[in-house]
Amino acid sequence: MGFLDTDLIKTISILKKKDSSIMGKKNHYSNVDSGNESFYKTESIGSPIKNIWVHAYGCSANIADSEIIRGMLLKQGYNIVDDENKSHLNILVTCSVKDSTEHKILHQIYNLTNTDKPLVVAGCLPKTEREKIEQINPKASLIGPNSLNSLLDVVDLAKFRRKSVFLDDSNHEKINLPRIRQNKIISIIEIATGCLSQCSFCQTKIAKGWLKSYRNGSIIRQLENDVVDGCKEIWLTSTDNGCYGRDINSNLVELLESCSSLPGTFKIRVGMMNPMYLPDILDGLLRLYKESDKIYKFLHIPVQSGSGKILKRMLRGHDIDTFKDVVLKFRKEIPEITIATDIIVGFPGESEYDFNSTINLIKLTRPDIVNISKYSSRSGTFSSKYKKIPSNIIKNRSEILHSVCRSISRKRNSIWKNWVGELLIDEINNNTFQGRNYAYKSVIIKDVNSGLDIGDTVKVKISNYSQYSLKADLIHS
Ligand code: SF4
Repeated sequence: MGFLDTDLIKTISILKKKDSSIMGKKNHYSNVDSGNESFYKTESIGSPIKNIWVHAYGCSANIADSEIIRGMLLKQGYNIVDDENKSHLNILVTCSVKDSTEHKILHQIYNLTNTDKPLVVAGCLPKTEREKIEQINPKASLIGPNSLNSLLDVVDLAKFRRKSVFLDDSNHEKINLPRIRQNKIISIIEIATGCLSQCSFCQTKIAKGWLKSYRNGSIIRQLENDVVDGCKEIWLTSTDNGCYGRDINSNLVELLESCSSLPGTFKIRVGMMNPMYLPDILDGLLRLYKESDKIYKFLHIPVQSGSGKILKRMLRGHDIDTFKDVVLKFRKEIPEITIATDIIVGFPGESEYDFNSTINLIKLTRPDIVNISKYSSRSGTFSSKYKKIPSNIIKNRSEILHSVCRSISRKRNSIWKNWVGELLIDEINNNTFQGRNYAYKSVIIKDVNSGLDIGDTVKVKISNYSQYSLKADLIHS
């Protein structure tokens, strides 16, 4: 509990004393008001709940869930507000991957609890850290990442201060549901939930469980509708795209073949794939990536460590060569392909030699993007029992790895200097336009008078680059 500040601990103890009867029950709802009026200001009880604020943390799947939550609530007649100060009820879609994210979310829950408005906590944290949430707000209603079908019931009950908890996984596919997109041209399609691995550090597994692939037909229908709606960037996402379809006698290549043969102007960004299942689909995947101009030349393959010993302790289910083989084969066929990976620094038992193996793997495979995380022990995971490495060593190694990755990313971006080609504008911030080229490279245009808008396709010439992105000048035709 060390991470909570004194005020919070004081508030928690008050809350605890107030009402501990409902803690721990899995699927239920109860009248949280019996004898607790003093906790809520009387004027708010029964007040019409019209405005709802929804905020998501974490991965693309969580953003997709928040889009569906907004869509379902709007269809039900609620107003979706973009500021929690205007809301009557708040919904957080939470992530449980890292300690740092959890701390941010728990503080947000603490702040929202003080607003006296009903709170619904969705996403992964209710399934992995329920007690921590209920210690701060025992009245918060809870929905699991695979229980969105209970959303409207939960909100209906919360309106009348009745807590409900729906954590059991349902068989509902989170697809072809009403949604309000975060970005009007980006369609985030969840193709499955859960995975087939049991990585020893991973709490997502506890939250999302075993693989449940959505049917090809449902995914294709969603994609078709989204393209008709004006979407041009399609993110196919799940907990592990690499194992997609293994539970429904299909696979990712089959799905991508169907999706990329659909008519319309769009490109598909294939989300994260654990290396473990890629050898079985590698040839088909490589062929599709080479032949189809509807698939971004972008691969995200988390390897997590360059040491075989550590991969075994992580229960990753694959060795270094599996990752190397995939990356080097794609690089040979598509040299400019953008490759992203994830590395956990300081996994328990990681020696200097193991860490140097990670550095060597990065230097050999030269990924454009490396998402570096310092190991954090997540409760309920296998590795939470392992002896931790001192944090100063982890910090030092993380800095070394960052500097190696910075220079590689910069060099990888330098190959694009003077490239001339098309971009899809997918973001605008303060007169800075970001576009994506066919390799999903982030390209920045600073031409304020261009009158560009999200969704526009423009021709550019790359004038400069940094480790993060490319800089381009518009070519006016
Ligand atoms: S593949 Fe591993 S890290 Fe990814 S969600 Fe599954 S168990 Fe977690």
